Amino acid sequence: MSPITIGNRVLGVAENGFFTEQNTAPIPGGRLWSGNDQDAGAARAWNDARAAYIAAGGRPEEFMPKGPDSSARRRAAQDFFWTHQPPPAAQPYTSNHGWGLAVDVATRAAAGWLMQNGHRFCFSHDEGERVGEWWHFRYVGGYKPVDRLAHLTPTERRWCRELDKLRRTGKDPDRRRVLVRELTQQRKRIWRAAQDTGWETRRRRARYASLLARTKP
Ligand SMILES: [Zn+2]
Repeated sequence: MSPITIGNRVLGVAENGFFTEQNTAPIPGGRLWSGNDQDAGAARAWNDARAAYIAAGGRPEEFMPKGPDSSARRRAAQDFFWTHQPPPAAQPYTSNHGWGLAVDVATRAAAGWLMQNGHRFCFSHDEGERVGEWWHFRYVGGYKPVDRLAHLTPTERRWCRELDKLRRTGKDPDRRRVLVRELTQQRKRIWRAAQDTGWETRRRRARYASLLARTKP
């Protein structure tokens, strides 16, 4: 089991260098640990960091692992790097790449951004700093994704979540119709209320936009 912990919770895949569809999730150009009930995981954190980088004007191709073995690193790749030094390689089956927790980022631009902003996504340069690698960042656990539906009322949020999930899975068209009907009525209530007391109160503008996006005819 991975020896990397936060508090007393273990981070990373169970066996160094063994990755599955379950224990890791895709990032553009690689894979990272997919987390568990207690932790959103390195892949989600990385993908959110990347989205923030792009939203801030960075180019998508800059915010990538350097190569196919520069995020989660399979045993075979670790063996290869170990027997083909330099550059120096970690003892096989010990590194954070093997636990699905580290990325060697491709560009200085993304590395610089991560130095400034990585902590918001629970990525640290501490290990990279120690070994003199500007490109190496590790996930330290505890990432809390921002809830994109936080502006909704609890009922609206529940309906939107359920509808989004059913649409993703293509299931239960009857239930989807019911949800769309409820959300449409709620959207109209918001619109009418806004005619009386304006759009700026009770987050009406943002709530209306979220419901409209799901109920457009
Ligand atoms: Zn590295």
